Amino acid sequence: MLHLKRVAQKNLARAAKNKPATLRGLATAAEPYDVVVIGGGKYHGPGGYVAAIKAAQLGLRTACIEKRGALGGTCLNVGCIPSKAMLNNSHLYHQAQHDFARRGIDATVSLNLPKMLEAKTNAVVGLTKGIELLFRQNKVDYIKGSASFVSPTRLSVTPITEGADASEVEAKNIIIATGSEVAPFPGGAITIDEQQIVSSTGALDLQQVPKKMVVIGGGIIGLEMGSVWSRLGAEVTVVEFLGAIGGAGIDAEIAKSFQKILQKQGLKFKLNTKVLSAEKKDGQVFLQAEPAKGGSAETLEADVVLVAVGRRPYTDGLNIEAAGLELDNKGRVIIDDQFTTSQKHIKCIGDVTFGPMLAHKAEEEGIAAVEFIKSGHGHVNYAAIPSVVYTHPEVAWVGKTEQDLKAEGVKYKIGKFSFAANSRAKTNLDTEGFIKVITEAETDRILGAHIIGPNAGEMIAEGVLALEYGASAEDVARTCHAHPTLSEAFKEAAMAAYSKPIHM
Ligand SMILES: Cc1cc2nc3c(=O)[nH]c(=O)nc-3n(C[C@H](O)[C@H](O)[C@H](O)COP(=O)(O)OP(=O)(O)OC[C@H]3O[C@@H](n4cnc5c(N)ncnc54)[C@H](O)[C@@H]3O)c2cc1C
Repeated sequence: MLHLKRVAQKNLARAAKNKPATLRGLATAAEPYDVVVIGGGKYHGPGGYVAAIKAAQLGLRTACIEKRGALGGTCLNVGCIPSKAMLNNSHLYHQAQHDFARRGIDATVSLNLPKMLEAKTNAVVGLTKGIELLFRQNKVDYIKGSASFVSPTRLSVTPITEGADASEVEAKNIIIATGSEVAPFPGGAITIDEQQIVSSTGALDLQQVPKKMVVIGGGIIGLEMGSVWSRLGAEVTVVEFLGAIGGAGIDAEIAKSFQKILQKQGLKFKLNTKVLSAEKKDGQVFLQAEPAKGGSAETLEADVVLVAVGRRPYTDGLNIEAAGLELDNKGRVIIDDQFTTSQKHIKCIGDVTFGPMLAHKAEEEGIAAVEFIKSGHGHVNYAAIPSVVYTHPEVAWVGKTEQDLKAEGVKYKIGKFSFAANSRAKTNLDTEGFIKVITEAETDRILGAHIIGPNAGEMIAEGVLALEYGASAEDVARTCHAHPTLSEAFKEAAMAAYSKPIHM
């Protein structure tokens, strides 16, 4: 301990002498930071950087330690943002090729993949810079380095710059927001090389369009990335262990409709199928797969395989033992309902702990954790966290599914409205999909909203707000919606739940 103190003193003295911009004003034991957040993300670690800004806004002296060299995390670097850039631009390309003519636009288009990848990078870099500016404006100290617990209140920081000295930081409160990493293929039967056998990270950066791509996993990430490369010309087959696509929480009826629409777009699906292994040979990948319940194996061939079987919490190098913290059997940091770990002053948020691995969930938790620190009160409503699949059409949902309510024995009503009957969708020649509002039969209170259709990801906000305020279907149906908008379909679905829609 004495030795550590000496190292700390030496490093702090060095840090003070050299005064690199990122290490200026590091907290000493005598004057610790009020809050230190671990993980601000490479480009947009949404939980960590939001928590740091909120803490500073509440008057707490705050630092954020991030080891990847730029703020942002999975979301901005290799997650939400680059995938949405590729989804948007591949959709435009596909639309120009297959949909323009019927709109009276004659155009010959060709793909410039390097430019499309560059546009994705530019979107990412622009947002990164924005967060650094927000840190400066809010006076958050941004420490570039890898944090590791020395004691429950002290962190050592190994700088990312080669040759730079390590330092130590003392904090009254610590928020762990170290996120998640790609889960390896179960049993180690498939090794990701990020060239031919890729994770979502490699799939965001393929330098040429594969002829044949197999996606292992029909969850949100697999379907989004599969859609991107299918639109750009790959023959995509999605292999899914379960009997439906879309992952956890999707309504079964929506999942079926979603699969049909994606099939029309050219994606192929092998459901109830288990991939066993992959072998690289002669520039190809050969996958062995068999029915999930057992049976004879088949071989699938691809130039590129995307392994999209999930993500796992990330705590490598954090030395959480020194802080006396515990992980559960899935590697998640154990917390209570105020995000507090077994140490009162250490909180944990985002992908590295319980709940859905979503950027907006991490952000909500970041704010609530800081509010608990400041005032003892904070709030996240886990019953109202939306999920979105950014394909075309988009799929979005919030709250209970029909299958949830059946399992819970709750009596419910359904109101549905098809985009084929919505004036704006018709005008836009974009009518696939429907909205489904589920209400409690006795009270008319909205319990869930499920959308497959254009702009579903934007429209679901209305369902989230309805759940948050405990709105009834009649409340929504009697709320004036602008005409002509897609959101009128939401109003009509609500009308259908408690009475009758007008336009269907
Ligand atoms: C392809 C893809 C698409 C996605 N799309 C969406 C989407 O559309 N919408 C959505 O809501 N979610 C999406 N996600 C999920 C989303 O990215 C995550 O839920 C979110 O980033 C989690 O935020 P976080 O703050 O918990 O962790 P992260 O974003 O993972 O950030 C954690 C940060 O901590 C840093 N760190 C780790 N250990 C240390 C340490 N010891 N010292 C210092 N720093 C450390 C890491 O470098 C990292 O930058 C997507 C994910 C992927 C992979």
